[in-house]
Amino acid sequence: LNRRLAEFGTTIFAEMSALAVRTGAINLGQGFPDTDGPEEVREAAVRALRDGRGNQYPPGPGVPELRRAVAAHQSARYGLSFDPDTEVLVTAGATEAIAATLLALLEPGDEVVALEPYYDSYAACIAMAGARRVPVTLRPDPEAARFRLDLDELRDAVTDSTRLLLINTPHNPTGTVLTRAELTAIAELAVERDLLVVTDEVYEHLVYDDAEHIPLATLPGMRERTVTIGSAGKTFSFTGWKVGWVTASPALTTAVRSAKQFLTYVSSGPFQYAVAEALALPEAYFASFRADMRAKRDLLSAGLKEAGFDVFTPAGTYFVTTDIRPLGESDGFAFCRSLPERAGVVAIPNAVFYDHRDQGAPFVRFAFCKQTGVLQEAVSRLKALA
Ligand code: PMP
Ligand code: GLN
Repeated sequence: LNRRLAEFGTTIFAEMSALAVRTGAINLGQGFPDTDGPEEVREAAVRALRDGRGNQYPPGPGVPELRRAVAAHQSARYGLSFDPDTEVLVTAGATEAIAATLLALLEPGDEVVALEPYYDSYAACIAMAGARRVPVTLRPDPEAARFRLDLDELRDAVTDSTRLLLINTPHNPTGTVLTRAELTAIAELAVERDLLVVTDEVYEHLVYDDAEHIPLATLPGMRERTVTIGSAGKTFSFTGWKVGWVTASPALTTAVRSAKQFLTYVSSGPFQYAVAEALALPEAYFASFRADMRAKRDLLSAGLKEAGFDVFTPAGTYFVTTDIRPLGESDGFAFCRSLPERAGVVAIPNAVFYDHRDQGAPFVRFAFCKQTGVLQEAVSRLKALA
């Protein structure tokens, strides 16, 4: 393994899912639903396979049906207009979108300012591009029961070597949804320092209560300098299909495509047709998906509180971050490694998403994209810990 990748080892998700399989514990670690997405979307995939749509290499940028559907979705929901021919690129999940974007836009030695804790592939892709990550730590605000971005720290992190800001909202693992004020500050900084912004919005449909998902590209000055990343895995509960997309200006889309063509060349065909149909589902689908996840969020958050954790009730995503210190614990790694044996549950230590590991040490993430009965059973097991 080369020096760029050596520090990363095996992803925590693979490690923890393997631990769940080995111990038979309930897996609230890796974020994937235990119920597949809509039947009609599955049928659409079967139809595409059977009708021979996409069984041979589809077009590099993605099939036109899906590119049009992505553009229509961005337009109908956010008033953002993207040309499906020049400003939409289909990728093998958001993961490839992140990789292709960073490999396409970064020069060796460039700095990338990213919100910490960050999704694990960001750090690895920045390293593969030969660039440097500069983390800005989201800090817990106990009063707001939320992790907060310090705008002064963000500003101070930008240097003459900064090439881009890497943003994620709704944010994995903290569940924070960046506010309009925070996003405006990010946008102003990007314009002032002439930075590109890559924004990972895969949880755009999972926001709760008063929180609102505001795409960064809708803010003044951002349309031309932003690469927005989306994914069907999260929104339609088909994480195994690996269909994602990028929307950006023609120049940025062309750049990302230049990298994508040598990573996967094209993305799997039949699923693209099915996701095109999924994006056109009526609003009722999105509303009921969100309502279902909100109920699960409430169930797990309340259960974790009763079990003695401090809980940062998420405004978005399907993850809840907890603080384990009230349980007399301080090392999330040790806690998560022993949790299957102690309680028959698997969770993720947030420290893996930090460069400043000490900052993340007491935080542990639980996924709630699971059936109600599974969450109830997990809660009753966790209560036995106290
Ligand atoms: N970004 C974030 C913030 C994620 O949580 C995930 C994982 N689920 C991804 C990207 C990767 O998405 P995909 O499965 O579409 O590659
Ligand atoms: N994004 C999912 C999570 O945060 C998992 C994706 C993966 O396993 N790479 O749990």
